[in-house]
Amino acid sequence: MKQKNITVAIAGNPNSGKTTIFNNLTGSRQKVGNWSGVTVEKKQGTVHFQGYEIKVVDLPGIYSLTPYSIEEIIARDFIIDEKPGIVIDIIDSSNLERNLYLAVQLVELGVKLILVLNMIDEATSKGVVIDQQKMGSLFGTPVVATIGSRNIGMDKLLAEVVKVAEDKEPVSRHIHLPYGEEVEEEIRKLQARIWEFPELTSRYSTRWLSVKLLENDSEIMTMLENADSKYAPVLRQSKRSSSHLHDIFEEEPGNFLGERRYGFIHGLLREAVKMPKESGLTLSQKIDKVMTNRILGFPLFLLLMWAMFQLTFTVGQYPAGWIDEGVMWLGKQLSQFLLSGTIKNLITDGIIGGAGGIIVFLPNIMILFLCISFFEDTGYMARTAFIMDKVMHTLGLHGKSFIPLLMGFGCNVPAIMATRTLENRKDRILTILIIPLMSCSARLPVYILLTGAFFPQNAGNVIFSLYLLGVVLSVISGQMFKRILLKLDAAPFVLELPPYRMPTLKSTMIHMWEKGVIFLKKMGTVILAGSMLIWFLSSFPQPVSNSHMTKAEIMEQTYIGRLGKLLSPVVKPLGFDWRGGVALITGFFAKEIVVSTYGVLYQVGEKEEESEGLRSALQHSGMSPLVAYAFMVFTLIYTPCLGTVAAIRRETGSWGWTFFSVGYSITLAWIMAFLIQQGGKLLGTL
Ligand code: GDP
Ligand code: MG
Repeated sequence: MKQKNITVAIAGNPNSGKTTIFNNLTGSRQKVGNWSGVTVEKKQGTVHFQGYEIKVVDLPGIYSLTPYSIEEIIARDFIIDEKPGIVIDIIDSSNLERNLYLAVQLVELGVKLILVLNMIDEATSKGVVIDQQKMGSLFGTPVVATIGSRNIGMDKLLAEVVKVAEDKEPVSRHIHLPYGEEVEEEIRKLQARIWEFPELTSRYSTRWLSVKLLENDSEIMTMLENADSKYAPVLRQSKRSSSHLHDIFEEEPGNFLGERRYGFIHGLLREAVKMPKESGLTLSQKIDKVMTNRILGFPLFLLLMWAMFQLTFTVGQYPAGWIDEGVMWLGKQLSQFLLSGTIKNLITDGIIGGAGGIIVFLPNIMILFLCISFFEDTGYMARTAFIMDKVMHTLGLHGKSFIPLLMGFGCNVPAIMATRTLENRKDRILTILIIPLMSCSARLPVYILLTGAFFPQNAGNVIFSLYLLGVVLSVISGQMFKRILLKLDAAPFVLELPPYRMPTLKSTMIHMWEKGVIFLKKMGTVILAGSMLIWFLSSFPQPVSNSHMTKAEIMEQTYIGRLGKLLSPVVKPLGFDWRGGVALITGFFAKEIVVSTYGVLYQVGEKEEESEGLRSALQHSGMSPLVAYAFMVFTLIYTPCLGTVAAIRRETGSWGWTFFSVGYSITLAWIMAFLIQQGGKLLGTL
């Protein structure tokens, strides 16, 4: 029978017990030499186990895989070039945080890994309790506890080696360290370049190589630079990506990538390890004692969210008012200057009335983005995942799913893309299905317009209630989807726990601006085109009119009026008139267009000179506050926009889920608006 072979490399920090374990395993069957060219000791040996000849190599002791020392270069090159079947990482269990830094780097390298919790005796006597199973499932590697100095755990370790070599270890999976969406974006760009070079992809994990490029790893850079500019495209992208990240984070990418790794380790330790009570807490830990406190954390989170919406509405009012006046002024100037006719109507009613009506909300949206960026940059956003962990677990989801959900408050499209960080497909689909219930910033103009008109005293609270309703419905929907549609097995995840820090004004501004630019682009494209289309549909075919007809009756003859009539029976039970129905249809392209449509359909003074602001036009339109609230609820719930639909299609890869999502959200929106309308009426008659 042919002898089966496995090569195993033993890696670990100095003094973690590598040599002790190496000796335990190989006994007298050892060869001692030097690594070629250097005077660093190289020990090799063999052990026979379950029909395998296992070749064991004791690597030099290292703290990391950066090429700072000859030991680190030797260890790294051996793992990359010799490709041992398995790497065993010996960890000093009494010193987990530092030792795990090497472990996460080995995970990144994409090798088959076994974590050995050596010196478990010392950890235990220090009062450290490690949940091995949890740690293993979070890391995606088997974990074996050993006491090297007493030769305990070696058979378990060897059995694990065989199991991993035969791919029979169910715990083993390849996890990606979470570096955050900005970094992931750059990694994807780099990978795309690297894929053009098969000799690189066969040697390295492309993700690992990308990360090293971002870190400006000297060995990798030299290797790529010394190839007669063959790799120029890769290096160019690397420069671009690094300096982009440097701009955002105001730090060397190498530094914050390291920080993110520690963030991962802290999250992992928090979930899988009970540390003994220590007095010396860091400032971050002290803040966390309050912010992620089991009892206080959730109310604090709600309070912050509430404050955010108050700020968004009240502070945003002032600049919004100025812009509003500016837009009105511009409209007046243009209407004096332009000759009466179709073009004039297109510009004043279609473009200024429609798209201009939305630019007014830019300050509110920017304030919302400012708050979200601030939460992200301080490290609070990452913590919300902990705070929401319990709630998420009732959905069968890990707290990590909460981060895409929270991003959904900004815009659903990147939020849906952010579910890529979830590894389990079912988690992803469930998260994608409930993201549209997170009220994105495009819905904000609708709320601000209607609350300003109908609930001016309580606008902040009413808006907050809508966001909250979205969250509550997402929990209920998630429960339902979980039961009816998918049997979920929650995949274990590590939540990143970065240190708190006071972000610089500059970096928060950059983040806010990056989000705001998306809104402005949308203004110039989808919303502008939508407004013009609505204007066209509401102006043609040219209505015939006489002096007895109201403006609304005249409008009913146009395309949009006919569409509205068609929709009337559907929206009537909700208390909306035909204009509301039309606004909901056009809002399907982008939610802001609901406001544009209102602008075109309501902002029609009976005579030119008495044309009133949209807000007072709404107040005099016969719409009641109850109907306005039902309308906002409908806007909250139904399909956010075409962009979201496209993102759902792309990220689920399934038309089935896409149609389901659209159908579900429209149905739910109708039912909720109906309940509010009928319930409110009932209360009114009591
Ligand atoms: P290396 O630098 O990683 O090769 O570490 P060594 O194998 O030389 O071990 C360093 C020291 O730790 C030695 O004195 C070992 O006897 C001791 N040691 C190794 N494993 C254990 C263990 O599991 N528990 C305890 N208490 N000591 C250990
Ligand atoms: Mg040693």
